Amino acid sequence: MSDPIPPLRTLLRRGMHKQCPQCGRGALFRRWIKLCDHCPVCGLKYLENQGDLWGYLLFVDRALFIFPLIVMIYFRLYVPNLTWFFVISGVLVFALIYTLPHRTGISLALDYLVRRKSGDLP
Ligand SMILES: [Zn+2]
Repeated sequence: MSDPIPPLRTLLRRGMHKQCPQCGRGALFRRWIKLCDHCPVCGLKYLENQGDLWGYLLFVDRALFIFPLIVMIYFRLYVPNLTWFFVISGVLVFALIYTLPHRTGISLALDYLVRRKSGDLP
């Protein structure tokens, strides 16, 4: 298994589409959020240890949701119309839940990239 490491853009796209970061064909999840152990196509073991993704998930979550939420809460002080604040907050909470598998896939792709570059994966 000495395939070249896919570029970061390819890895992120595969993660976003919930596909195996190595081959891009195997599914990451069995149901909505249940992560498979191995890729059914190329056999890549997705995670060495349970909990390996927490650091990446925190990073992706902060970049995508926490900073915009902080900005929203900050600007709430200057928005006299409460309706928009609650509408946007509701949309963000829905997006936070709906995109959980996609964010997990992106985190897994980043973890794969680090494992390949550090030599943990051949
Ligand atoms: Zn695969």
